[in-house]
Parts: sequence; C-alpha cells; structure tokens
Amino acid sequence: MTCHPGDGSGSFALALWKTATSPILGMMKPSTLRIGHRYRPNRLASNYDAIVIGSGMGGLTTAAFLSELGWKVCVLEQHYTAGGYTHSFERNGYEWDPGVHYIGDVGAETRTKKMFDFVSEGQLKWAPMDPEYDRFYVGDKVFSAIAGKQAFRDNLVQTFPEEAQAIDQYLKLLDKIGSASTAFGMERILRPWQRVLMWPFLRYAKPAWLYRNTYDVLSELTDNQDLIAVLCGQWGDMGLPPKRSVFMVHALIARHYLYGGYYPVGGSWQIANSIIPKIQKAGGEVFTYASVEEIFVEDDRVKGVAMADGHRIQCDCVISSAGISNTLGRLLPEYVVSSAGYTQRLQNVQPSFAHLGVYIGLKHTAEELGIPKTNFWIYPSNDYDAAVETFIDDENAEFPVVYISFPSAKDPDYQNRHPGTATIEIVAPAPFEWFEKWQGSTWGKRGDEYEAFKAGLGERLLAHLYDKLPQAKGKVDYYEVSTPQSTNWFSAYQYGELYGLDHTTERLKQHWLGPRTPIDGLWMTGQDTLTCGVTGAMMSGMLTTTAMVGMRKMWPLLKRIYA
Ligand SMILES: Cc1cc2nc3c(=O)[nH]c(=O)nc-3n(C[C@H](O)[C@H](O)[C@H](O)COP(=O)(O)OP(=O)(O)OC[C@H]3O[C@@H](n4cnc5c(N)ncnc54)[C@H](O)[C@@H]3O)c2cc1C
Repeated sequence: MTCHPGDGSGSFALALWKTATSPILGMMKPSTLRIGHRYRPNRLASNYDAIVIGSGMGGLTTAAFLSELGWKVCVLEQHYTAGGYTHSFERNGYEWDPGVHYIGDVGAETRTKKMFDFVSEGQLKWAPMDPEYDRFYVGDKVFSAIAGKQAFRDNLVQTFPEEAQAIDQYLKLLDKIGSASTAFGMERILRPWQRVLMWPFLRYAKPAWLYRNTYDVLSELTDNQDLIAVLCGQWGDMGLPPKRSVFMVHALIARHYLYGGYYPVGGSWQIANSIIPKIQKAGGEVFTYASVEEIFVEDDRVKGVAMADGHRIQCDCVISSAGISNTLGRLLPEYVVSSAGYTQRLQNVQPSFAHLGVYIGLKHTAEELGIPKTNFWIYPSNDYDAAVETFIDDENAEFPVVYISFPSAKDPDYQNRHPGTATIEIVAPAPFEWFEKWQGSTWGKRGDEYEAFKAGLGERLLAHLYDKLPQAKGKVDYYEVSTPQSTNWFSAYQYGELYGLDHTTERLKQHWLGPRTPIDGLWMTGQDTLTCGVTGAMMSGMLTTTAMVGMRKMWPLLKRIYA
C-alpha cells in the first residue's frame, strides 16, 4: 500500500502501521551507541593548532594525519556521535550502519588498506563478504558480481558468451583508473600555475574519455543492454544512473569492489572509534553535540568558529569537512562567499539524490535465516535512466532501485554484541521535495501525516525484501524508516543528500572543489572535494593534509604508510 502527503490515504496507512511491528509513535528512543566526547566550552583546551568541522571520514583522516605530524586538533561534530556517515545507531537491541555497507580494496596490502591501517593504527579489521558480493535483480533476470578480476570476468563471460571481447575491453578500461585517480587527486591540490605546468602529464594520465558519461562509453563496447545494466548495477554507489553519471567515477567504484566487498569487524562505528585515539594522543579531541554556527573571517583570513551555543573558538586554521553546501551556504558569511568567487561557481554543482532507509531487526540470527553476505540491487528493468525519470514524475511508480544489505551477516562480531538477532537495511531514492514541507521539524515529532507517509513507503520497500528473501516474512521484530529529513537532522545534509554533491561530469571538472580556498587558513576536505565513498573521503583527508603542510613534510609519512 502506498500513501503520499495530502492524498487522503495517510490515516489508513497510519492505522496499518500502528498495528504493524514498527515502533509506536512518540516512543522512539535515541541511540545509546555514542563515541567522541560531549562538547562543553569548559572542556576545550586553551589553544588548538587546527579546528576540523565534521567528524566524517574526511575530517577524521585529516585530523589523524595532522596529529601524526604533531598538531593538536579539535574536531567539532554536530551529531551526538562521531563518524559522520560511518556512524552506527542502536535501538531496541539492534544496531545499524546508515552509511557503510561495504568497502573494497582492503583484502590485500593495497594502498587503501595501508591507509586504513595508518589512520586506525592497525585497529580496524575487515571481514570478507561472500564471493558474490553484489547480486543484481534486473526485471526478472538475476546477475552477479563475483570477487576477483578473473572470476568477475569468467562469470560475466559465462552469462554473456557473445560478449567476451566487450567484457575484456571493459576490464582494460578499469585498469587505467588507478593512475587516472592519482592524477585526479593530485590535480585537486595543485595551485593554478602548477596545474598549467603539469597539464601535459594530467592530460596523459586522465584522458578525456574518462569525463564522458558512463552509458556512452559502455555502449561503444557493446549494445547488449543487459550487459550494460550488469556493469552499471552499482550505480546506486554514486547516486546517478548511467546516462547521467561520469565514467571516471563509475570506473573508480567498479574497480574499488572488483576484488570483493569487506565489512568493518564490529560495525561501521569502529572506523571512527579506531581513529579517535590517534587524535587524542597528540592532545586533540573529537567533540560531539558541537554544532558550528559560523566560520569567522577577518580581512580574508580565518579567525576561528562560533558555536551554536554562542561560544567562540579562536584558531587561525579551520578545515571544513561539513560539505560544500553547508560550508558555503550556511557557515561562511554571504559576503565572504561572494567575494571569494564561489557564488558563480556554485551554479555548476547540485546536491545528490536524497534517500530513504529501512532499518530492520529480526529475532533470529543471519545464519538461522540463511541470509547471505551479498548485497541485493533490485531494478524494475535494464533501463535505469528511464526508471529514474518515471519515478521522479510519478511517485507511485516503482522504485528505480532498491538496495538491500545484511550487516549482521557480514559482521563476524555481531552475535557477541546482539546475540540471537539479525539486521537488514534497505536503501532507496526519494526526492527531497516529497519531504520539503517538514523542513525545520524535530526528529520523532513530525506528526501523523509524516509517519503515515513514511509507513507507506516502508511497506513498499519491505515487500521487495519479502519477495527476494521470503524466509524473513513473519520474522521481523522491529523496523523503522528514515527519510531525507532524518538525514538532514542527524547528518546535517540539508537536502537529505546521499553523497554530498552530484557526481556529474560538470562537477568533476570543477578544479575549485579541492582542499584550497581563497580564504587564508580555511581548507576543505571530505567527499565533495574528491569523490564519495568512505575511501574517497579518506583519500580527501590525505590530500587536504598534503595541500596544507606541503609535499616535503608529507612525503616521508606517505613513504612510511605505503612501505
Ligand atoms: C545510505 C548510504 C550508504 C552508503 N554506503 C556506502 C558504502 O557501502 N561504502 C562506502 O564506501 N560509502 C558508502 N556511502 C558513502 C560514504 O558513507 C560517504 O561518502 C562518506 O562517509 C562521506 O564522508 P565525509 O567525511 O565526506 O562526510 P560525512 O561523513 O557526511 O561527514 C560530515 C560531517 O560533518 C558534520 N557537520 C555538518 N555540518 C556541521 C556543523 N555545522 N558543525 C559540526 N559538524 C557538522 C556532519 O554531522 C557529518 O558528521 C554511503 C552513504 C550513504 C548515505
């Protein structure tokens, strides 16, 4: 059953929902799983070398690098727990991870794995998913992504025997993405004159076709629409379907997971939990409930931040990991934004798609329920772009993608923390506009209409789960639905964005989206300055630190990390 605001079906859906297994209105208790230290002005040290706004992977990585270099860093996080999109929450005896379902490239001693080892001082451990890490339900067909380049290829060739050449050509393109992404990252930290000097190298390392749209590149390899659909089956990992996405980001993601998916042992909150001690060891701290209201600028120079409680923290170095739209749209005074030339530049970027989440708890273990360590991607047909268009125009249309993840199955430590239970998460897109009328409202107090609307959407998404995993039917003990307003409330993405800025070709071409700003002492980091994903945000932290301290100081550290 579906219901929408103002269509008159709200009260029926609410009645249904109140008799279902989801929580009773007004009874939702905030999560008790919290890391970081609660902010109070009197808990601040008298001076910090740098302030980082936001404790997501970008902010924490920057803070960890600076701490390693001897800086005392104060990380300010508005949420009640640290980690940004890597945070976890716990309710009714279950635990979920809203923004981490799998990480790639950590099954061997890769650069990604070494970087995670560095920031977590070796504390972060990874558990492999099943060899079939992604399963794609495309209409009534089912396809798989299998871990390992050869296994991935062999499986696809077996499914599409006529397409062996196209598949091999595709894998060759993915081979080129490693050096291209290094060049892309390097370009982000160069000053304009350095970019001019490096232009021949950058052009060579980042050929123009990387900036073409994904569908165009793939349709030159094959006209088999099912194969294209399988190759683009992870489009939800960047939030844009193949005719709108840029091939470079498509290839980065496909390459990232090519050797399989991994899950942080102990849950995604272990990511921040393992990084915070490194910051504290150098005299720094990660404060929660620490909402920054404004970044102070005087004479084009950063002077510190003003907190929501009115307290001011003086500091000549501020790194914003709060995202471009928060930093430029909310934290910097308007005159600073326009005199720094950002007003015009912001026309070239837009927020990524908003999303819904369903967080499900079951009173059986994943093993008892036969739940796999495989992500499910469910599509109505192989024309992903058309499905998105239809959905935007008609909210009763099928969801263009439904993503289902099984965190308790992936985490070998889950049973130690929540014995005898299992969890499931569902993610699906939802235009922010559907929820705009509740902008500024309080979590848990948005009223019957909102709750009924959510309930209807939750029912639709649960139907997808039961269709693909019938054994879950009747076993669901608890579920709750999050909307773009939940994302706004907890993670400060005003439009409920999945991935910060949209990953269009236009966005990738914006050189100003990097660590440097025209304001002295103000730096940027996080997914908006590079690309989305936990690894993208982590690499952005490394690049921001490099831009700040210079290659001479950074090089010995990088050599040690990558040794
Ligand atoms: C549903 C979903 C699923 C995902 N799945 C995966 C996955 O499986 N694998 C993967 O690699 N990536 C995944 N991602 C993407 C990944 O989580 C993000 O790209 C990455 O974590 C972003 O890190 P960040 O540091 O740039 O931003 P964030 O983690 O968003 O951190 C920014 C922080 O800034 C804080 N902040 C904002 N304004 C203020 C302020 N005024 N004062 C103080 N603090 C402020 C916010 O509260 C937030 O904590 C997923 C994302 C979503 C939403």
